[in-house]
Amino acid sequence: MIPLASRNLSAPTQAILDERQALIDAEPTFDAQKNAATRLWKGKSRTEARKLAFQEVRTVLADMCPVKGICPYCEHNEDSDIEHIIPKSFYPEATFVWENYLLACKLCNMTYKWDHCYVLDHLGAVLKIPKGALPPNSDTAFINPRTESPNDLLLLNLKTFQFVIPRNLSISEYNKALTTIEILGLNEREPLIRARESAHSFFYDTLDRLLRILESNSIEELRENLRPNAGRTSPNKPLDDHKAYFRDSFRNAIQSHQHPAVWHAIKLTGRKVDRKWHRLFEGLPEALTW
Ligand SMILES: [Zn+2]
Repeated sequence: MIPLASRNLSAPTQAILDERQALIDAEPTFDAQKNAATRLWKGKSRTEARKLAFQEVRTVLADMCPVKGICPYCEHNEDSDIEHIIPKSFYPEATFVWENYLLACKLCNMTYKWDHCYVLDHLGAVLKIPKGALPPNSDTAFINPRTESPNDLLLLNLKTFQFVIPRNLSISEYNKALTTIEILGLNEREPLIRARESAHSFFYDTLDRLLRILESNSIEELRENLRPNAGRTSPNKPLDDHKAYFRDSFRNAIQSHQHPAVWHAIKLTGRKVDRKWHRLFEGLPEALTW
């Protein structure tokens, strides 16, 4: 799960959301609010002004994700849908609330997360809320990547490529992390597990090649380390300029790659338990901040 940056909407767009939400909040009962939420959400782009507002919502949400175009839940698929982090069918008061949105993929939104609602009680236990029922609180058992740091609650195991829950969490945090894994199927979706494994190889190959590039003593040696892409070098450019270019380029490739949870786990645990990672970070310690 990818932590999202914080951004605000423009004042006119925020005003449109506030006006839509006020219509829901004015309804007298929970059922009437749920009906209004469904109806108004369906018609959210019905006027030109609202259409433009929701275009902005999409644009800003996309900009908040450090891995462009990727669903922050699965870290893998295209971010196509405006998703309510706490479901509007249980919390109509959060239907047009900016802080409740992110851009998720269709699979996470429509198949996995869908209309599930679990909340934490005052002891941290998980309560499943039946469809249509009024939740007792808004402390949902689901990690919110807009307000929480998913990396504090989920850690990828670099052997199984499934998420584990770090030790020393509170009961509430543990249950929230576990329920999030279960709702999104993060440890069961085979394509995700295979893609994490593949991302692990990508991160290793990229860092390994970069280290060899930075340790090159001549343009010829650098060209050898760049094969089969040695054409990107020029004999007239100083060796250090080449190295600076490739350092930036490879860092960007790592930071914009899918499955950043894999990279996070490599930095946190991989370098301590795996000699080959240890060697790479010894040679290029700045990569620990990437
Ligand atoms: Zn997804």
